[in-house]
Amino acid sequence: MAAMQRGIKPIRTCIVCRKSQEPSQLLRVNCVDGVITPTSGGKSHGRGAWLHLSCGYIAIDRKAFKSAFKLEQAPDLSKFKVFLDERLKSDN
Ligand SMILES: [Zn+2]
Repeated sequence: MAAMQRGIKPIRTCIVCRKSQEPSQLLRVNCVDGVITPTSGGKSHGRGAWLHLSCGYIAIDRKAFKSAFKLEQAPDLSKFKVFLDERLKSDN
């Protein structure tokens, strides 16, 4: 199955639990004008951060995005919360 596998796999680290994983296991978010926005379709805008879907609410509790994006003010998480709610609902 993995005969053509390349030696180098991209690995990303979750900003919440610090586990390193393949990007397919993680969710990528961007911070655009102070708004935390899930990246879709592989397009990114500026700085990105990676985290597990299951770590999403913990990230909000711990204000993980503020430090991950080196923000001076708490970011707007409303979009991210809606996204999390929808994703967690549809996964169950
Ligand atoms: Zn995690």
